[in-house]
Amino acid sequence: MTLSASNIQESTQKAASLIRAAQRGVVLTGAGLSTHSGIPDFRSQGSGLWTKFLPMEVASLTTFRRQPELFYDWLRPLASHMLSAQPNPAHLALAELERAGFIKTIITQNIDGLHHRAGSQNILEVHGSLNSMTCIGCYRQVSSEDYIQPYLELGRYPHCQACGKILKPDIILFEEQLPIKTWLKAEQASKSCDLMLVAGTSLEVMPSARLPMHVVENQASLIVVNKTLTYIDERAHVLLYGDVAEILPLLTSEVLRG
Ligand code: ZN
Repeated sequence: MTLSASNIQESTQKAASLIRAAQRGVVLTGAGLSTHSGIPDFRSQGSGLWTKFLPMEVASLTTFRRQPELFYDWLRPLASHMLSAQPNPAHLALAELERAGFIKTIITQNIDGLHHRAGSQNILEVHGSLNSMTCIGCYRQVSSEDYIQPYLELGRYPHCQACGKILKPDIILFEEQLPIKTWLKAEQASKSCDLMLVAGTSLEVMPSARLPMHVVENQASLIVVNKTLTYIDERAHVLLYGDVAEILPLLTSEVLRG
């Protein structure tokens, strides 16, 4: 066994014992969790599909109000990917930890719905979700199912059946506030948890990036699993540097074995 492999094993065991000891464990996830499901981080530059548009411009509330068609054309490949994507071993491992009672809440910055599809229950989608849409005219909320597919297949832009105005997916665009109720629950969960597992997020998008600071302030346990460095790494009790789709299943079996 190489030194790094034994280090990974030691860190995994340490993380597992912290998770087993927790009563109010919380997970915070981001784009890195879904890359194995084929969903690129739409905020990152140069990720192939999105280079034609600048997300900051096209995925903004201003663009949506002025030129919803432009927004929908940008959304097309992303929505197509998300609708056909399947949860990967990282999502499944977190769902298993929740089922076994070790995790109480999953806070996610992802809009792809993959935690739901993996079987997780208590999910706070702080950046919203592609699963529902709201009319910008009468605020009627509908399930995306009947609208997104016709758009993808026939190019029919989603309009409200009640008032005819355009429907906006319930995802948080640039310039838009986070859904307040969900956000307050996420803050509360972060403040009251005794452990936070940060997985697949480089903690660059505010205000979600701030949530682990509550954990540090309360001296609760903090575990970080990510491919790249984050600002909170030096405050973490355990740092597992690598691929979430490999590490989270290993960590989960270690927790369940104990
Ligand atoms: Zn309407």
